[in-house]
Amino acid sequence: MALQAPEGTRDLLPDEAKFWTHFKATATDIFGRYGYLPIETPVFEQTELFVRGIGEATDVVSKEMFTAISGQNLATLLDGGSIKAKSRLSLRPEGTAGVVRAVVQHDLVPQGAQPAKLMYAGPMFRAERPQKGRQRQFNQVGIECLGAEEPSVDAEGIIMLMRFYAAIGIPVQATRLLVNSMGCDACRPAYRDAVKAYMDEHADELCDECNRRAELNPLRAFDCKNPTCAAIMEGAPKITDHLCDDCREHYEAVKTYLTSADIAFEEDPTLVRGLDYYTRTVFEVQVTEGMGSQNAIGGGGRYDKLAEEVGGRPTPGFGWALGYERCVLALEAAGQTIPPAQRCDFFVACVDDSVRAEAFSLVQAMRDAGLTGEMDHQHRSLKSQFKLADKLGAVAVVVFGPDELATGKAKVRNMQTHTERLVDLAAVRTLLARFGGDPYGVEATSVDELFGNLGDE
Ligand code: AMP
Repeated sequence: MALQAPEGTRDLLPDEAKFWTHFKATATDIFGRYGYLPIETPVFEQTELFVRGIGEATDVVSKEMFTAISGQNLATLLDGGSIKAKSRLSLRPEGTAGVVRAVVQHDLVPQGAQPAKLMYAGPMFRAERPQKGRQRQFNQVGIECLGAEEPSVDAEGIIMLMRFYAAIGIPVQATRLLVNSMGCDACRPAYRDAVKAYMDEHADELCDECNRRAELNPLRAFDCKNPTCAAIMEGAPKITDHLCDDCREHYEAVKTYLTSADIAFEEDPTLVRGLDYYTRTVFEVQVTEGMGSQNAIGGGGRYDKLAEEVGGRPTPGFGWALGYERCVLALEAAGQTIPPAQRCDFFVACVDDSVRAEAFSLVQAMRDAGLTGEMDHQHRSLKSQFKLADKLGAVAVVVFGPDELATGKAKVRNMQTHTERLVDLAAVRTLLARFGGDPYGVEATSVDELFGNLGDE
């Protein structure tokens, strides 16, 4: 059997690869208006970064990382040799830790400086059980703002995400924005204790995993998919009743900013998200119908302690990531289709081989002038060349025949109206030279510009 792509991965075939390019370009455009600039970090980092940044007890770090040992002799390791921290590498399961590491390493937020506003787009890797909407390699677009703790940064970040969904065609009414505050070092410990005490009271009814969570990180029990646990956790103490004054003020301000930008949201005091680094604002965007259980298309929050965790000076931060593949599923669920990648302005068809060299040269000149076009490379009959032109969606077909060429002309057929005209090739060449000339500085032209002002003959 022919080899297949690994389980949990997907090839982005040309139509989708082109849509991914469009997706990234739209993100760069919209987020650029908010001052966000691109950053590219490695797809793998020292494992320690994720352990310290995301948290050792999280599912992502404890169960889902693809980790490799590099540059060390396996035999020595099996013999009990120790693994150097630098040799323990993991494919990035998310983008924030790497970006924060880069900000600290390159001192992108010197004391008293403007916040660093950064965006990224690329593949992430999690060894999860694959299912619809859940892959082992998937693409994310994300933003991070480091160096500002103002609630306006959180609100601005959420607003631009919602604007982005609308721009790529996901209807706002098909989504639900959930927001919460996770508190801070001042108020969360007491809240955690309250949740743990509540869970201890219900230890007999909770699943084994939740009883383990009660010891390690009780808040994670809010994410348990077991229906009994979910029902019990409904009755657990709510973080919003335990926020300190500063966190409450921050949370209220975020909500006020969102309302002033007409962004609808629902408060969900059980929203904790799976990573350890969040403080204060957390949020998630879900699609309400047609996506099954993997319905989150984006989410994130504030992480004011993360820079310190990775060895930097205290630097507040806020960020989110959205999943590209889930957005495609959301578009499908909303009845939208991805536009086809192929564009074909013209097709040059040859009646026989005697005109091929001349046709080849015209095709090049038209491409240099900014048009997208094709000719036959397989010696097809004229009829099948027309079929191919039709399949490619060509706007016009230029037919090269020996008789017409002898008089310096070619036939052009408009594929929409099926009308034909004879054009003077010298005039076409003159126009092309005006449009093109410099193949690297071409101005896009159109078939209409090229053939529209040449009269019928
Ligand atoms: P997270 O970092 O878990 O908050 O993920 C942010 C977004 O990435 C989610 O809302 C999803 O849209 C997407 N995502 C996360 N994990 C996966 C996965 N395994 N497969 C596909 N998309 C994912």
